[in-house]
Amino acid sequence: MASGSDSRPNNGVCVFCVHSVKWIPVLFLVCMIIWSYYAYVIQLCALTVLSYTEKGFYLVGYHILFAIFLWSYWQTIFTPIATVPKKFMLPSEELEKMLNASSEHTQRMIVENFAQSLPITNRTIIGAVRYCDKCQHVKPDRAHHCSVCRVCVLKMDHHCPWVNNCVSFTNYKFFILFLGYAFLYCIFIVATSLPYFIEFWKVSILFKYKRLMGNIEGSGKFHILFLFFVAAMFATSLISLFSYHCYLVLHNRTTLEAFRAPIFQLGPDKNGFSLGKYNNFQEVFGDRKALWFIPVFTR
Ligand SMILES: [Zn+2]
Ligand SMILES: [Zn+2]
Repeated sequence: MASGSDSRPNNGVCVFCVHSVKWIPVLFLVCMIIWSYYAYVIQLCALTVLSYTEKGFYLVGYHILFAIFLWSYWQTIFTPIATVPKKFMLPSEELEKMLNASSEHTQRMIVENFAQSLPITNRTIIGAVRYCDKCQHVKPDRAHHCSVCRVCVLKMDHHCPWVNNCVSFTNYKFFILFLGYAFLYCIFIVATSLPYFIEFWKVSILFKYKRLMGNIEGSGKFHILFLFFVAAMFATSLISLFSYHCYLVLHNRTTLEAFRAPIFQLGPDKNGFSLGKYNNFQEVFGDRKALWFIPVFTR
């Protein structure tokens, strides 16, 4: 019965390959961030912008946003997921009984008896206690099994390949801040590079057949034009994702619960965990207002 992750032949190289492949989206984003830093700080601010006041304003604003955006991203990636407490684990004698049970009904009764002392309200579609066969424990409310992390995760929202981590109870605040600050970072780049973007196009048209663009000719121009396009594209997708997660926070709902309503004794109810908008917000961001928008864990 004890199957799952351990049953396969354990080839060290393959496990390493699988772990490496999971980091590819993160690596891609990190390369984009490093390139955006080079394009903005070197190509735009150092080599293109002439006014020192403008340079100063751009560099200070950029670095503040860059730092807080990277901090949120780091926290989303490296905050460990919260796994299920031991008390939800089926004791070995109960597990033995369950494995030897003659029918599904008997198995369900064993889990049901064990779960009586546990603080759970969520049920399956047939009204049974939620149990994870792979982890062999009762699932706490809002916990789901992540097939990528191979473990049940508390208040699981979704598994995000761009952070190579489950977005869940421990890092949901960081994830939202990451989306919000990434959006501000992109918008700041779009807004401050816009005048140069327009200027480049004008100059390009004017000197279409001549090579007279001086210091804005060549790869520098390419970096700034591309930076503008990429930042605008990311800003568009980030604002939609960020808005959606703001909506979910205000309704105390995870992405999984938005797609499939959690089931309680009285049936499915999407609003089952809602405590009112302000309390829902505090559930994620904590009650210390000064720390709401700082990527540190708050209760
Ligand atoms: Zn599980
Ligand atoms: Zn996961």
